[in-house]
Formats: sequence, structure tokens, C-alpha cells
Amino acid sequence: MKVAVIGAGQLGRMLALSGYPLGIRCEFYDRSADTPGGQVGPIATGEFDDIARLATFAARADVLTFDWENIPVSSLEPLAGLVPIYPQPGALAIAQDRLLEKTLFRDLGIPTPAFAPVDLRSDLEAAVERIGIPGVLKTRRLGYDGKGQARIMKRADIDAAWRQLGGDALIYEGFVRFQREVSLVAVRSTKGEFAAYPLAENVHRHGILAETRAPAARRASLQRAAEKHVRAVLERFRYVGVLAMEFFVEGGTLIANEMAPRVHNSGHWTIEGAQTSQFENHLRAITGLPLGSTAARGHSAMVNFVGRMPAPSRALAMPGLHLHDYGKSEARPGRKLGHATLVAPTARARDAALARMRRLT
Ligand code: AMP
Repeated sequence: MKVAVIGAGQLGRMLALSGYPLGIRCEFYDRSADTPGGQVGPIATGEFDDIARLATFAARADVLTFDWENIPVSSLEPLAGLVPIYPQPGALAIAQDRLLEKTLFRDLGIPTPAFAPVDLRSDLEAAVERIGIPGVLKTRRLGYDGKGQARIMKRADIDAAWRQLGGDALIYEGFVRFQREVSLVAVRSTKGEFAAYPLAENVHRHGILAETRAPAARRASLQRAAEKHVRAVLERFRYVGVLAMEFFVEGGTLIANEMAPRVHNSGHWTIEGAQTSQFENHLRAITGLPLGSTAARGHSAMVNFVGRMPAPSRALAMPGLHLHDYGKSEARPGRKLGHATLVAPTARARDAALARMRRLT
């Protein structure tokens, strides 16, 4: 089986690594060969809107997938006649636009923050009037890791938020005073099989995921509610592959923030912490194989290394620690360079280990 992966970042790299034991070969397409994926599998280079190059690349594979969310959907659509594309470009199109995404959630009965589209300055005034302050102004497209957003905590912030983002297609959201942020990674196969991992709890710093703990549901009802919401999204698209959905937990209720139609950073713990990793399950799903168990093996903690990797000699001196270095050629502030996971027998032991892992860099 040959899987064509558009985007060769760390997600593609981990996808390829999980494919090798199953005899599934991943080949990549990205702008540059010097990428985390390009170090572990063959890579073709080209622009993401070069349809001819993309078509040559896709035609060699049994199935096409992607590790990057901002691929133009108009580049994928012409490839649909050449090879099956999973997840479906229709799901990607919705996930690329925060307004369409929140509208979908609302249509499916999934709670979201209050939201309103903002194109003009007068729309912002009207949205603030209706939804109130505090709130968050975000670009509808191309926002990730906290980029393209401005908080409006008081009326005086409106001007600065507009100066920063005005001119783009925007969305204004009510500010959620959440107690925790959680995510659910789930998978649906070509045969309609569904499986979900235990909820993970995430902590973000500067809008970037810093750490994850899983399992994180303190009540079974929270897990059930998350699975119901994600399942509704997957069924809507007859989706194939892994999808992650991020929620705020406010007063014991889940409020959907966003979805990612791909393997997700908050699911990296599954490599060592679950019976089958999210990467293997994505490959199983898109190649028509049975899904693997999503049960946790214990209590996992994952820390991201952003901007700086720890010294391997120091990190690996921690018993039970699994180190992942993405092999990026350059360390830049705000860039995800690697992560570490530790699986402990109890939640308490996991939390103690997490405190030590935080101090590695
Ligand atoms: P996002 O790019 O939408 O994932 O937002 C990045 C981070 O900003 C989230 O993980 C939250 O911590 C915070 N955030 C985003 N939207 C809201 C909101 N409506 N209310 C409160 N915090 C938010």
C-alpha cells in the first residue's frame, strides 16, 4: 500500500513511522525536501497550487491524505478522479473557515461560543453589541496556534483589534471563561467503523499547545458527550480518517472551539499511551483496514518542545520517558521541535512526572 501525504511536517513524519511495521509506505509532497517527513520517506517538491505536479505525485499512490490544514481545497479537487482522498476535501473546506466550522457545529446541535461574522468595522460594533465584551476577534482563515486573533477585554481594545486584523474576513466570538481545555481524537474507517480515544486535557502557552494529559474525563458523561459531538461531525461528511475536536469545559459542559481534519498534536500521547496510535489508526482507516483499539495503556503526559529541544542525555535520564525529535533543521522561537511522552500507572505518578518534564528545557 502506498499513501501519498501532502505536507511533510512532524505529523507526516509520525504517520510514515507508524506505517512501516504494517508495510504501508508514505511518500510526501512539500515545498522543500528538508522537512521532518522528507527524512523518513521519499519526497516530491513543488508548490501547493501546482496541480500538474500534484497530479503526478498523487497518481503513484493508492490513497491520498494530508498532514497540513491550509492546503488549497482547489488543489485537491482536481486530484479526486485519480485517487481516493481521505479525509474528504469537503471536511477540509469547512475546517479552514472558522465561520463555516462554527455554523456546522451549531447546525449539528453542538454548543459553541456565541459568534458573528465581521467584515466591516460596523459589523464589529454590531457583534460587540450583540455578544458583549469580553470576546475574541479572529481571522476566519489561516489562523492556527493562536495566530490571527485579538482579545477584546474592554471597549478600548476594539480599535487595536481592528487595526491588527481589519480588512480580513473575521469572526467575533464571545469569550469563554473555561475551567479546562480538552480535545477528542476520533477516527472513522471506510466501512463506517468509529472509535474515539479518551479525552485529553490540554494547556496552551502563547496560543501553542504546551502539554497534554490523558485520559482526562473526570466523569464518564463528559467522554460520552464529546464522542456524540465528534461522531455527528464524522457522520455528516461520511468522514474517513482521524479528526480532532477541541472543546472548552465550562461548568461541566463542552463548548466546541475548533476541529482539525487530521492527526493532532493533542493525540501524540497515543503513540506510547494507547493500544493503537492515532497515526496508525489514521493509516488503517484510509487504507480500508480494521481500526485498532483506542484504549489507554495507563496515564499519559505529553510535553511539547517549542523553540528549544532539551539535551537528550538529560531527557533520556528520566525513567520511562519517550523522546521525539522532529529533526527540524532550524530552531526558531514558537516552532514545535519535538515532544516527550511518559506513561505512568496512576494519574498521581503521571502528574509528578509531568512536573519534572516541564523543567527539561
Ligand atoms: P484557537 O486558535 O481558536 O485554537 O485559539 C487558541 C487559544 O485561544 C485557545 O486554545 C484558547 O485558549 C484561546 N481561545 C480561543 N477562542 C477563545 C474563546 N472564544 N474564549 C476564550 N478563549 C479562547
